[in-house]
Amino acid sequence: MMNPEYDYLFKLLLIGDSGVGKSCLLLRFADDTYTESYISTIGVDFKIRTIDMDGKTVKLQIESFNNVKQWLEEINRYACENVSRLLVGNKSDLISKKVVDLSTGQDLASSLKIPFLETSAKSSDNVERAFLTMASEIHKRVATEGAGMQAKSKEARAQSAKINSAPLWLGGEKQTPEASNCC
Ligand code: GDP
Ligand code: MG
Repeated sequence: MMNPEYDYLFKLLLIGDSGVGKSCLLLRFADDTYTESYISTIGVDFKIRTIDMDGKTVKLQIESFNNVKQWLEEINRYACENVSRLLVGNKSDLISKKVVDLSTGQDLASSLKIPFLETSAKSSDNVERAFLTMASEIHKRVATEGAGMQAKSKEARAQSAKINSAPLWLGGEKQTPEASNCC
């Protein structure tokens, strides 16, 4: 049997307004670098880093997108209900220029029922923690779903396999390509 390069591939999206530091976070996590001018010129928005998680090789594919509102709407509309989310307040090193204080960030996150972290791509503070938290949340979910599948009866598994392989057109209604994009 072929030896696969990784056990899991998780896709992480960084969404937020332009200039908040998504590309910097991406480069800090993937390459452990921080170079302001390089990023704004080249515009790196896609990186890969492979990590070890409980003995499994997990490949993280990370992309960044501008415009929080639009993307949150897209995620809410099309992604699975149990997609993992984390609210990040970046540039935590700019203490004197802070516009959103810790408790405001935490309040927003708790009203959205998602965890919150303050990070700094510049000083590295909490960057590993942010990405590894996401990876671990997804890993937990995947492992639980896998266990749930195994616990199901043979019949239920067969039924679920049928559903998973059902065509995109159901009940005469055409699903949008995005709608079928769910994990
Ligand atoms: P993006 O549009 O969200 O991808 O933002 P960038 O990653 O390009 O960051 C925009 C600018 O914000 C960078 O050029 C940096 O000058 C600055 N920046 C990003 N992250 C940090 C950070 O953690 N601390 C500070 N002080 N500046 C940051
Ligand atoms: Mg960017």
